[in-house]
Amino acid sequence: MDIRNTIDSNSKIIGIPRAISYYYNYPFYYGYFKALGYDIVLSDKTTTKLINEGSKHVVSDTCLPIKVFVGHVVNLISKGCNKIFIPSLQSTAYKVNNCTKVRGLPEIIRNVIDKPFTMIEPTLDKTNDISFKDFCFDTANQLGIYDESLINQAIKSGWLMYDNFKQMTVSGIPFEEALENAINNKTAKKTIEIVKPISVVIMAHGYNLFDERISMRLIPKLENMGVKVYTGLNVSKQDAIDSIQQIGEIQYWANELDLTGAAAYYMLNGKIDGIIALSAFGCGPDSLMVKEMEYHAVENKLPMIHLNIDEHTGEAGFLTRVEAFVDMLLRKKRRKIEKNNIKLFQSSKSENTKVSQEQKEPSLTIV
Ligand code: SF4
Repeated sequence: MDIRNTIDSNSKIIGIPRAISYYYNYPFYYGYFKALGYDIVLSDKTTTKLINEGSKHVVSDTCLPIKVFVGHVVNLISKGCNKIFIPSLQSTAYKVNNCTKVRGLPEIIRNVIDKPFTMIEPTLDKTNDISFKDFCFDTANQLGIYDESLINQAIKSGWLMYDNFKQMTVSGIPFEEALENAINNKTAKKTIEIVKPISVVIMAHGYNLFDERISMRLIPKLENMGVKVYTGLNVSKQDAIDSIQQIGEIQYWANELDLTGAAAYYMLNGKIDGIIALSAFGCGPDSLMVKEMEYHAVENKLPMIHLNIDEHTGEAGFLTRVEAFVDMLLRKKRRKIEKNNIKLFQSSKSENTKVSQEQKEPSLTIV
């Protein structure tokens, strides 16, 4: 949507980049800003052109999601948005941190984009006593809103939408569908579980996995291969936290619930045949979390593949690796079933032998 001719600098329109925290918090942002009386303009979906635009502004070894984020900000500016929401999400719980790039997003944008616009840049830092409520009040104040009851009402609206969204995803509703339902005040529950020959969990940041250009539509591709896919969105926060503890790790990174938490949860409940780690090239937190999980996967004899992506990753090579992994899982599963069948056959055969001997014994006794 081009809004250049429809807004002035006082208009109640806020731009939200369709990147990074959008993939976690958008249902909250939507309910919150709407209740404050703001309309939201989203940047367009990620394209190669948008990535190239973002890449032009940052040094080459910046991770892909940050290049994508910059591209989305440029996209919003080109649409005429003069207020853009770029929060600094430092820590999401006491000593549970985001990486330096997510923490410093407002600084990155200020230093690489020289076009004029107003950045709405609240800080969330629970380690340093800046609560989520403070974050929400800070956002509203930066927009010139000081009415406490209105802000509290907006926070409530945000949570209602977020909780509905989370309940839907935990029940198995896909990301896009749950998001669409949540912002339209609808709810849905997955009632039929389709049984597939093999299941995997994908450990990945939401902004990598649910951005179809970044993940190259990994989820639908796997589903077309007959794979049941689980993600961090299907696990409740408490289950993810408990699972991290159960495998003897600690939650250090803010996105750890979607990575270590999800992988550990499905590994412990024995629901999966393999783990797929999808991460951006050069990501510090992922290099630690994936390594940690590889160790536990080996311990639990669970196959795991690590797919590293950047803006140059070709879809063909990426798909070949995924297909090879799925093929290996299928063969492993088939072998397991065959082995169990042989065991079953052998035990029923020995039962039959016993029975026929027992049948013979009485006749011998009679003789
Ligand atoms: S967590 Fe990793 S992928 Fe995400 S922004 Fe930070 S460095 Fe980039």
